[in-house]
Amino acid sequence: MCIFCDIVSGAITAEKVYEDELALAFLDIRPVFPGHVLLIPKAHVETFPDLPDASIAPLFATARMLARAIPVALDADGTFVAMNNVVSQSVPHLHVHVVPRRRKDGLRGFFWPRNSYDSAEHVESVANAIRAAISAERA
Ligand code: AMP
Repeated sequence: MCIFCDIVSGAITAEKVYEDELALAFLDIRPVFPGHVLLIPKAHVETFPDLPDASIAPLFATARMLARAIPVALDADGTFVAMNNVVSQSVPHLHVHVVPRRRKDGLRGFFWPRNSYDSAEHVESVANAIRAAISAERA
């Protein structure tokens, strides 16, 4: 059974902050910072690539609404909005993290170390692989 489906059904309690027909948002029990919210589609969808067309616009609009409301609510400077898909995804029910951010809040660079490409050819081959996969996806 899926714990986020249990939150949708009410079998597990959560501190809900927003709900509509398609989606639910609640506080993460182990927040990066207080006010860290998880937004989920109510229907069980495992990852972002699995999200049906009809859910994309409403879910993204709700993520935007949360990204506007959370800094106002908590007097934060901004947000970090992210999804883990498969790798580092501890709950296999799509969830969008909306994390309040403040300048100098200590998160900078700590979990997203940046690298360089080896060469111009490396840049080109990576970009070409992505372009080819996008063409196949859209065909
Ligand atoms: P991820 O690691 O990206 O899959 O994120 C899963 C998130 O779900 C983690 O940040 C957990 O703290 C959070 N989480 C797990 N169980 C619950 C729960 N019952 N209520 C609220 N948040 C939860």
